[in-house]
Amino acid sequence: MTQRKKIFIIYTGGTIGMIENPELHALEPFDFDHLIDNVPKIKMLDYEISNFQFAKPIDSSAMNPSHWAEIAEVIEQKYDEVDGFVVLHGTDTMAYTASALSFMLENLNKPVIVTGSQLPIGEVRTDGEENLITALQIAAAEDENGEPMVREVAILFENYLWRGNRSTKSSADNFNAFKSNNYPELARIGLDINFKREYLWRGKVEGKLKVKYPMDTNVMFLTLFPGISELVVRHVLSTPGIKGVVLKSFGAGNAPNEAWFLDVVRQAIERGVVVVNITQCTNGCVMPMRYVTGKELSDAGCVSGYDLTSEAAITKLMYLLGQGLSAEEVKRQMATSLCGEMTI
Ligand code: ASP
Repeated sequence: MTQRKKIFIIYTGGTIGMIENPELHALEPFDFDHLIDNVPKIKMLDYEISNFQFAKPIDSSAMNPSHWAEIAEVIEQKYDEVDGFVVLHGTDTMAYTASALSFMLENLNKPVIVTGSQLPIGEVRTDGEENLITALQIAAAEDENGEPMVREVAILFENYLWRGNRSTKSSADNFNAFKSNNYPELARIGLDINFKREYLWRGKVEGKLKVKYPMDTNVMFLTLFPGISELVVRHVLSTPGIKGVVLKSFGAGNAPNEAWFLDVVRQAIERGVVVVNITQCTNGCVMPMRYVTGKELSDAGCVSGYDLTSEAAITKLMYLLGQGLSAEEVKRQMATSLCGEMTI
């Protein structure tokens, strides 16, 4: 007889578990028992399900690195006891959490499936029930050798399973709310769950799960636009304590080629700030040698983030800086794919 699969659910909040506040007539997070009571079908799965919920479930717009640490800590504690994890999370910052966890959970070899919904689980047309059930099935899925099918952090939403650190919230109202513009789906959900084996992460696992907790929040985005002023760029790059900046440049990694711009960027890099160049385009990557403007940025010491999403770029920077590495080492690892987050 095959053993019942053991799945651990971590409930952080988000629309999936929300109900309407009767006074404010707006949605707010509610508790896990309410959520699970709305999905009686779960019993049909015959899994051994246990759970942990945040003391106060949150709207994911309030998510921060201390919450990521809390999720990672639960995963670390339960890791050897269960077959897989489902993290219930609001959609707004889901891609940040999935990206952050992918870096923090070194040697991950089990599924961590992050999901949520656009409509609360208590609503008649909810997408939450289907997402939760499918996430549980994916967390329990194994290959022909009895090994977990998914061995990474992934986002399950409606018809797709995406790599967590490749995902972005792309719609505020569509049931297919997530996209991965630079990497194919890990599974297509239709009548069956159709895993795309060739895209699943199969990186080398060296030893036991090791959680890397520290995340350095002295980072920020600098989004370019035509007309951006010297004063603003200078100000942003001289923010007290700043250690890393994700520069959202144009097209294939281009920026204004005016002398003041390159000077300000170069000076920041000389002061030890790590500047990572990613594109504002939803798809494609930074090609620093394609245009003179991109090459000048690279010559100034800017590191190419290739096809990283914004979410992966900023959380990877927080993670690497959090390890207390030198700026040179952070740059080297920013340009290396650590867990499938970029195509080089
Ligand atoms: N504001 C909600 C959240 O991110 C949206 C959602 O869950 O869909 O928590």
